[in-house]
Amino acid sequence: MDLTLLLHSFTPSWTSVAMLLGYFTYLAIFGSILPGKVVPGATLSDGTRLHYRCNGLLMLFLLVTLLGIGGWMDLLSPTAIADRGLELLSATLVFSVLVTNILYMVGCKSHDQSSSLRPHTTGNLIEDWWFGIQLNPQFMGLDLKFYFVRAGMLGWLLINLSVLVKSIQESNLSQSMILYQLFCIIYIMDYFIHEEYMTSTWDIIAERLGFMLVFGDIVWIPFTFSIQGWWLLSNKVELTIAAIIANCLVFFMGYLVFRGANKQKHVFKKNPKALIWGRPPKVIGGKLLASGYWGIARHSNYLGDLLVALSFSLPCGISSPVPYFYPTYLFILLIWRERRDETRCAEKYKDIWAEYKKTVPWRIFPYVY
Ligand code: NDP
Repeated sequence: MDLTLLLHSFTPSWTSVAMLLGYFTYLAIFGSILPGKVVPGATLSDGTRLHYRCNGLLMLFLLVTLLGIGGWMDLLSPTAIADRGLELLSATLVFSVLVTNILYMVGCKSHDQSSSLRPHTTGNLIEDWWFGIQLNPQFMGLDLKFYFVRAGMLGWLLINLSVLVKSIQESNLSQSMILYQLFCIIYIMDYFIHEEYMTSTWDIIAERLGFMLVFGDIVWIPFTFSIQGWWLLSNKVELTIAAIIANCLVFFMGYLVFRGANKQKHVFKKNPKALIWGRPPKVIGGKLLASGYWGIARHSNYLGDLLVALSFSLPCGISSPVPYFYPTYLFILLIWRERRDETRCAEKYKDIWAEYKKTVPWRIFPYVY
């Protein structure tokens, strides 16, 4: 592809801008009006709690149904996203920069005394722009962090579905594409089924909303997690039955650990006496769970997620490193994040954390690291 053509593919057309704005408007309106379980978030430093309406699954079904009907009635093309992938990528990137600039300006001017909205400026423009100023900025009643992560996960699904339709239309639907799509659909649906667990994750409770999170949610998640799908559109892979079975095992093992660990922590936070694997939990200092998955490694949920990420790429074979972008990135991210979380927990829990570390010495990989 020559440079002019490449630049042209990256230049957002009005259609892609309209698609993007339509998508974010849909999420804002239907996120506010559709019914869903209202879940209290973590207790903030001033003792208050935010509340999150977990209606993502309903939003997903409604949107996919509406788009399906639109496609069936020839009102829109189901491959529109796959056809305009690069344009949508650059339009979303520009949007993420604009949103971050607004968040930065609003954050600097904020006089809100609520702990989550009080500005956390360091005075370093780049750092404040990158990491954000406010912990939980809101817009018209929407919690923006919850909104953007949802936009990213649902966007990933929409890209994948569009790529799937394109591969069917081009008559190159392969076993690899089916496996990749199946694993992603299970993972994304699971995210929305358990959307309330998101309210106790690091991003929601600890990270401020700046470019890092906005870009990560709306650009990085949908456009890089779907690389395998794009790659399979133009590359053919022959899988043996043994490879398919091994691939499914990696996915289901990873999924079991990922979901099980996150669920155990969530349940424990709500009810510290709830049984873990049928037994009373082992608790350190009344606050930290040290049994179940949390007794095997201090972040076994990361191990599960890494296995799942690997399973998304294995259907692509080993002829190219490109489809392994996501597991490689996730490996680096989670190693870094584990270190940051470790520092945060050591500060927060002090002696209790030290005791937990003695009881459970492994960070992510049992007997290895
Ligand atoms: P965690 O859900 O592991 O949350 C860490 C927090 O949990 C700690 O800060 C502490 O918070 C609490 N905690 C830690 N250990 C214990 C314990 N033993 N008992 C009780 N509470 C404990 O981390 P993340 O939010 O980073 O990850 C959530 C999920 O999201 C993971 O599965 C991860 O793999 C996934 N993820 C995926 C990404 C992707 O790009 N695909 C990116 C990032 C995460 P507290 O102060 O509340 O006690």
